[in-house]
Amino acid sequence: MRKAFIVLTLWAQSAAAVVVPCANDVVTAEAADPALAAQICSASDAALDHFQSCALPALDPVRITAVTGFERNCVGLYHCGEDWIEVLAPDELEQKRDEFGIFGHIPVARFFDSIVLHEMSHALYYQSPCPVADCVATTEYFAYTQQIDALSEVDFAPIAAQALDMPVRADVINAFILYMAPDKFALEAWVHLSARPDRCAQWRQVLAGEIYFDKPVPHP
Ligand SMILES: [Zn+2]
Repeated sequence: MRKAFIVLTLWAQSAAAVVVPCANDVVTAEAADPALAAQICSASDAALDHFQSCALPALDPVRITAVTGFERNCVGLYHCGEDWIEVLAPDELEQKRDEFGIFGHIPVARFFDSIVLHEMSHALYYQSPCPVADCVATTEYFAYTQQIDALSEVDFAPIAAQALDMPVRADVINAFILYMAPDKFALEAWVHLSARPDRCAQWRQVLAGEIYFDKPVPHP
């Protein structure tokens, strides 16, 4: 039975917002209006279904807030250890279409949903053990491959075309490529995952800390 939405009204920075506990009992959506909060809930339902389709571990409760801007130049942000995700609202996202990179062809509503999945993937990875000092490349590998894998056929096709002739390389899945060329990183991650015989098993091993791409930091 679907739980009735409880809508609370808050005032933050002189803008009204709604807080909606989603029926999935995992996500609490915060947005400027009920329609956008409902979109967060449906996007989070799809993300949880995608996790469950591979029998990935359960995600701890997390708050997702649609915001109108970031201090940093990004479209989504997972606050490590705070059970909190911020995603740029669709209207503001549309104005940043030039920065979508390999996702530039995707209509903004579906791109918003895929950012929700990407950031929820970071939240899920945060529950996992990191066997080295920092797992920044591994968490992005997990988030980008989840995001690309969940795209519809029509949204996926242009990305598949870009990845067509790329060789499988694990050595380029690192923090340097991530920061210098995030689109290349995302494609390399996808090509690497696609070459695995069982992508669900690959994700489960990533989340178990058995597969990681970050290197131990050498002692001076
Ligand atoms: Zn990310």
